Amino acid sequence: MILPGSTIGILGGGQLGRMLAMAAAQLGYRCHIYAPESDSIAAEVSARFTCAAWHDEAALSDFARECDAVTYEFENVPVAPLAVIPATLLAPGTRALEVAQDRLSEKRFVENLGGRPAPYAPVDGGDDLRAAIERIGAPGILKTRREGYDGKGQWRLASAHEAEGLALPGEGLVYEGLVRFEAEFSVILVRARDGEVRFWDSPGNVHEGGILARSTLPAPDEVTAQVAEARKLAQAVAEALGYVGVLTLEFFATTEGPVFNEMAPRVHNSGHWTIEGALTSQFENHIRAVCGLPLGDTATLFPAIEMTNLIGDAAQEAADVLADPHAHLHFYGKSDARKGRKMGHVTRLG
Ligand code: AMP
Repeated sequence: MILPGSTIGILGGGQLGRMLAMAAAQLGYRCHIYAPESDSIAAEVSARFTCAAWHDEAALSDFARECDAVTYEFENVPVAPLAVIPATLLAPGTRALEVAQDRLSEKRFVENLGGRPAPYAPVDGGDDLRAAIERIGAPGILKTRREGYDGKGQWRLASAHEAEGLALPGEGLVYEGLVRFEAEFSVILVRARDGEVRFWDSPGNVHEGGILARSTLPAPDEVTAQVAEARKLAQAVAEALGYVGVLTLEFFATTEGPVFNEMAPRVHNSGHWTIEGALTSQFENHIRAVCGLPLGDTATLFPAIEMTNLIGDAAQEAADVLADPHAHLHFYGKSDARKGRKMGHVTRLG
């Protein structure tokens, strides 16, 4: 057990790190943020900050020497340099990062465990794309295998013809058939060092422009009917990876059952409602798991909960939110409200 007073290293410096650090502080831990950007909003609320590049092995090694455990808030941390950090300190392990960083390996991994992704094909050039569209059909979505998030690195293709004029990276893509879903949802679980797994209730998620807009509980009925099957897959993924911490899998609820979309080896935006809406938040349980503490109860506390992201200019609505007695406002402290940037979120409890 890593006792309160110890230092938890967090790789990544954004809002997830900020909320992890706040949960860790409540339990008496100190956090040390490692991030390449100097204006880290996680570092603002943490005891220590190393601002260095992901490939700076000397800096990573010094950072690890000062930490009793190391975790991540960002799944695209390059894996090779992490070899300088003793594997016993890392939770979850780097295998989870390797799988989740590549959409192709993620789909294959989940398929091997009995999961069903949308029909897909790897694309490493124009000929591959033509063949993929011929086999899978259009409409579909072409995605970069690596580093895409919040709808970035994605091209929606209505027809094979539309693919002709696109300026695409030469390789490292995957083409997916467009899934006709009834709703989207996520499974968020926490797995302890001793293998115990707990799930939070699954919210229904609505994305706009590829970015999560809202998570709602209770989820629509078509989601609720598919949660058990989706949980089985999520637990199998966690077990196959020997996972420790919070793990998220995103699904489409379709008339043929849950279709796997993607996984995140970390706390997740669709779990922010757990801060006020569950007995133990995803952030606290992640810290508990990483430190080998007993897990907290994940029960939902309110009959209706809605988490809304404040994106770009929407942050200006904050004053109105504070006038609502059922709303909890979270601002991440980002200085620049760029279009599409997650500035904060609001959780309404009913
Ligand atoms: P992703 O970054 O892959 O999670 O995609 C972001 C959002 O785009 C998803 O949550 C869906 O709303 C939509 N999307 C992505 N892939 C597909 C797909 N194959 N079929 C239908 N919608 C999709």
